[in-house]
Amino acid sequence: MNKNRTTGLAVVAALSVALLSGCEAPSLDKLLTSGDQQTQPANGASAEGSENTTPSSQQEEPGKPKPPSLQETLTMVEGVPTVTNPTELSVVVNKQRALPADYIPPDLVEPNVPFPFDEKVEKRFMRAEAAKALEELFAGAKQDGIELYAVSGYRSYKTQRSLYETYVKTQGAEHAAAYSAVPGKSEHQTGLAMDVSGVDATTRLEEPFGETPEGQWLSAHCGEYGFIIRYLKGKEETTGYSYEPWHLRYVGKEMAQEIMAKGITLEDYLSENGSAQKQ
Ligand SMILES: [Zn+2]
Repeated sequence: MNKNRTTGLAVVAALSVALLSGCEAPSLDKLLTSGDQQTQPANGASAEGSENTTPSSQQEEPGKPKPPSLQETLTMVEGVPTVTNPTELSVVVNKQRALPADYIPPDLVEPNVPFPFDEKVEKRFMRAEAAKALEELFAGAKQDGIELYAVSGYRSYKTQRSLYETYVKTQGAEHAAAYSAVPGKSEHQTGLAMDVSGVDATTRLEEPFGETPEGQWLSAHCGEYGFIIRYLKGKEETTGYSYEPWHLRYVGKEMAQEIMAKGITLEDYLSENGSAQKQ
């Protein structure tokens, strides 16, 4: 009964498994090198870390103030629902919430972690605090005998637009809308996301990765380093995306530990009626 859809899925899978959330852009990276004016080495990325020196809503204080709710951080820009807090660690970008088209994270650096490729491309980058946390996560994993690769981090609006347009050309508008992130709506543009794999490429950016020792380790420990598994199994209706056990999103330790312990989504956490708000 679903023959057309199944056929379509197979075609799509051939193009890229990770287009579901715009996770990976393997062949287009080299085309686009914008957004790399910021090329601080990773070991210069010690700037802020988790010290409480920034006057933002992310402050960890005894009263535990919550970051602003989803409703409070959305405005219409030329007909597009757009987030007002792109630089906050609590920013939520999804199919209903775009980043400003011209948003480039202010402090992109390259984390000092292994990548499964040699090219100096934008997808190596993350925001400084997230990059430092990723280095710590990789070190922690290694101590537990888990070897990881960083596969894809920052993705500019321009890259996502090219990817999306290529997809429309090759697969049609309908499929593009269903399987690729619209430019501005990929979380990778925040500089706070990294797709991670084990050194074995067979489950790279595929759902079975969640069952591997590497995937299990990430799920159990990422919160300790300030990361969440952003797209959980069974939460597709909330996040708008399929389960992606490889897609890590940095939110800071306090939020990450609470989100991972409760098994909720970032949307749930920040929703006015979410469990986090009821406390
Ligand atoms: Zn991803």
